[in-house]
Amino acid sequence: MLMKDSNAFVTGVANHRSIAWAIARALDREGARLALSYLGDREKEGIEKIVGQLQTPPLLVQCYVSDDDSVGAAFTRVSDELGRLDALVHAIAFARREDLDGRYTDTSRDGYHLALDVSAFSLNCLVRAAESLMTDGGGIVALTYLGSERVVANYNVMGVAKAALESGIRYLAGELGERGIRINGLSAGPIKTLASRGIKGFSTMHKLHAERAALRRNVDVDEVADAALFLCSRLSRGMTGEIIYVDGGYRIMGL
Ligand code: NAD
Repeated sequence: MLMKDSNAFVTGVANHRSIAWAIARALDREGARLALSYLGDREKEGIEKIVGQLQTPPLLVQCYVSDDDSVGAAFTRVSDELGRLDALVHAIAFARREDLDGRYTDTSRDGYHLALDVSAFSLNCLVRAAESLMTDGGGIVALTYLGSERVVANYNVMGVAKAALESGIRYLAGELGERGIRINGLSAGPIKTLASRGIKGFSTMHKLHAERAALRRNVDVDEVADAALFLCSRLSRGMTGEIIYVDGGYRIMGL
């Protein structure tokens, strides 16, 4: 069991389709004790319907990443109930629909701030709060997407947020490495979830991705979750500050 005697905090579970939920299942399968965070009452109801599938009942905490008090309260509960933390998963992103539908050029100041705050700065907030609980070091994973480095239709401000997230991963990794805390990014291919449904033309993107990926198919959440498990566990103990791609080999393809 890769995560025996480990405690992991997984953020961003909205429902059974969430990438975070698949990661939670993989960590639970390998023996981790879990804390799961949810955004609000609707997400909490969704989680309560599925948590019975886990081997060990998790701690459920509310965490709204744009509010320092909410993040502080969530980590106080994690600290009280779990004590030490060995792994943290950041699977949170948000942008306004209008900032994904139109031209990137026309992104509003508010929309830009909101997307960057929720999708990128939130990693700082979570890592800063987790740092003191990761007394034996550990693995942190953040979910990202290729739109950070390539122009992807309708990804717009979220691509810029993912670029900030990925750069942040490297800076955080550079600073926290001396404490044995590793931070890596996991760049997943397109998967049908609540968040991806907000991207105009996602079905077309999903179809084209499968046609053009080296494996000639899309990836599923369990493939992403197993890579996240690797990055959370000691198996990846020599890696930090990297972005690894679980995209069926889409990124490597040229003509
Ligand atoms: P999802 O909708 O299941 O998860 C997104 C989560 O972000 C939800 O749980 C939502 O409640 C949470 N969230 C949004 N705003 C928040 C806030 N202010 N505070 C706290 N939580 C907030 O969708 P998903 O596709 O599983 O997304 C998880 C991560 O994976 C995201 O970072 C996303 O960008 C990334 N990702 C998704 C895909 C894909 O195709 N689905 C591909 C690559 C990367």
